Amino acid sequence: STVGVPREVKNSEHRVAMTPDGVRELDRAGVAVMVETGAGDGASISDDDYVTAGATIVPTAADVWAQQMVVKVKEPKPEEFEYLREDLTLFTYLHLAAYPAVAEALLAAKTTSVAYETVQLSDGSLPLLAPMSEVAGRLAPQMGAHFLERHKGGRGVLMGGVPGVSPAKVVVLGAGNVGWSSAVIAAGMEAEVTVLDKNLERLRYVDQIHKGRISTLASNQGSIERTVAEADLVIGAVLVAGGRAPVVVSDDLVRSMKPRAVIVDVAVDQGGCIATTRETTHEDPVYELHGVVHYAVGNMPGAVPHTSTYALTNATLPYQLDVAVHGALGAARRSASIAHGLNTVGGHHANAIVAESLGATA
Ligand code: NAD
Repeated sequence: STVGVPREVKNSEHRVAMTPDGVRELDRAGVAVMVETGAGDGASISDDDYVTAGATIVPTAADVWAQQMVVKVKEPKPEEFEYLREDLTLFTYLHLAAYPAVAEALLAAKTTSVAYETVQLSDGSLPLLAPMSEVAGRLAPQMGAHFLERHKGGRGVLMGGVPGVSPAKVVVLGAGNVGWSSAVIAAGMEAEVTVLDKNLERLRYVDQIHKGRISTLASNQGSIERTVAEADLVIGAVLVAGGRAPVVVSDDLVRSMKPRAVIVDVAVDQGGCIATTRETTHEDPVYELHGVVHYAVGNMPGAVPHTSTYALTNATLPYQLDVAVHGALGAARRSASIAHGLNTVGGHHANAIVAESLGATA
């Protein structure tokens, strides 16, 4: 079978769906890979790197989309809809609930689509979302440290302090994939880190590994109020699966924070967990409200497309291989995880939850 890897066309999307090592693995399985010229540029991967790994570089998007399967990062944009067809399998982030026009295009063309974000393991976890949470989580203290600098609007506090001077106080709300990653990096920068979660089991994991470097606190209104009011940097990373992020920091609590403290609300893509959050962009990442610097970029991994590309493809490659070798339906029969990933087949919805969110049935 054959797989195409297009250059992403979404605004400021610099990731690519396959690395040269991925090309090699598919090649070993007898799958030919066509890569659109320049597809890896944004992630600092050259056409030559792909050729060395065994790929064929093709000049246009149409050449890539002509293959049996197309792997992408983002949902197809309207200018790509013309390439959708019945004997095509598309494997990418789709987020159809947020993009009904994409759902309609896939159904109308009877394309078989598999969505990264709905591939699910038996314990309910989402293996193709976790790596991007890790990237965003590890980036959050770096962004926080940057905007804590005085000329960036911050309090002018150095994360690690120096001998004789206290380090920055960093409060991480949520100890999931994002929060744990944030806490580890902030601790590595030698800040004084406290992580809060409602789930004591999560705090147990953190405590077992990081006790002495990261403090854990059960999350409730009192513990949040006391820690946030004292913080130099607050990182928001709470999530309730499938829903809008709960707002755990009120407007009043933001008003009570230290002047020019910094908030990085990573949960912004689910509505934000801080009352004063509104989504920002990489081009214009921060705003000031109640004397506090707010950073709330909705696609943080986009800032580091090289790392994000490798993190994403490490997780997607085994599934891409399965789908390329066995076909989407064959792979879905062999793997319940991939079956969850199927979103549209032959003009019908294949995932009940996605269908329901669009007012349809699977
Ligand atoms: P996760 O499910 O692994 O972790 C969320 C944690 O929040 C859980 O441990 C849960 O117990 C905890 N929690 C829930 N309610 C709480 C409360 N009231 N107080 C304290 N803790 C509470 O999720 P994740 O992968 O860490 O993702 C966190 C958020 O980051 C999500 O909204 C996700 O969409 C977002 N995210 C954003 C970006 C970005 O670029 N901005 C990138 C990746 C993920």
